[in-house]
Amino acid sequence: MKKKILLISTGGTIASQKTSMGLTPGIPSQRLLEWIPEVKDLCDVDTTQILNLDSTNMQPEDWLLMVRAIRDAYDRYDGFVITHGTDTMAYTAAALSYLIQNSQKPIVITGSQRPMEVGTTDGPQNLLDSFVFCIQPDVRGVYLVFDGKAIVGTRVRKVKTRSYSAFESINFPVVALINDRRIIRYLNPCQQGERPVQFYDNIHPGVFLLKLIPGMEPDILDYVAQRYDAVIIESYGSGGLPFTDERNFLQKVSELASKDKIIVMATQVMLEGSDLTAYEVGAIARQKVPLLEAYDMTVEAAVAKLMWILTQTREFAQVKEMFYTPVNFDLCWPMPQ
Ligand code: ASP
Repeated sequence: MKKKILLISTGGTIASQKTSMGLTPGIPSQRLLEWIPEVKDLCDVDTTQILNLDSTNMQPEDWLLMVRAIRDAYDRYDGFVITHGTDTMAYTAAALSYLIQNSQKPIVITGSQRPMEVGTTDGPQNLLDSFVFCIQPDVRGVYLVFDGKAIVGTRVRKVKTRSYSAFESINFPVVALINDRRIIRYLNPCQQGERPVQFYDNIHPGVFLLKLIPGMEPDILDYVAQRYDAVIIESYGSGGLPFTDERNFLQKVSELASKDKIIVMATQVMLEGSDLTAYEVGAIARQKVPLLEAYDMTVEAAVAKLMWILTQTREFAQVKEMFYTPVNFDLCWPMPQ
């Protein structure tokens, strides 16, 4: 019997049309299927349109609409394909990984770099690949399918603004290649066990991401502290905080921690993660400030994980425990002491 898949559309380039002001989403979800008539041979597809946004306009609250659409239809379908703009797709893929846990069914996010209506579009291939992946036996949880690759939802990063190969899997292998209708599965990461699916219907957007640059004034964090409950600091290399007298971030970050702000150290470097123990600038920060470290997590995953955790607790020890508990393969490093 053919599987039943729900296509949930949210906008993005894949649904965009040319206007005098540039591309803007306009194609409804049902029409997206017109570009892949062969999908009818593979599975039965229903469609629902929950948003029609350029994903630059996507807000954390919009992730909850996706969760709700999946929760409400969960028992009626074998899997879900979400079409989405590529610009914030990595955040959505991470967020859905935290907001929908232990899913025994696949949730596949896709989109395209060029609109369906353009001759050179990558949209039909990405959409068809998503259905092909979605109907495989034993695919569970949240993935991105794009340019013939399946990437775990917590490991996605947009790395190219124009090319079809727009996404990479960060610090984790690509789990499958999809070529026409053939699939090579390198990994079958479905160790999520038989626990029941869990949906979360809250998100706390009070997370700030600060990218350090030489010369930045630490007192920017005074303002951040007024508005946000957690700050991820994208530091340099293996990680550390400047502590020179001119611009002492170490001191400012300690002040924030003493005001019960959650501090997470991450790195601006795309691959291989952080390690605060490597240099004095990191080791001192680690010793003097109660902080967390992203290790091999992507920054997108760290942002979404904190937004999910902060709906449940703001207490440092509990945040720490949840942050270091792996979800959907977001963190592979051993739990630090
Ligand atoms: N600006 C578009 C979006 O993120 C880009 C895309 O979909 O490729 O919605």
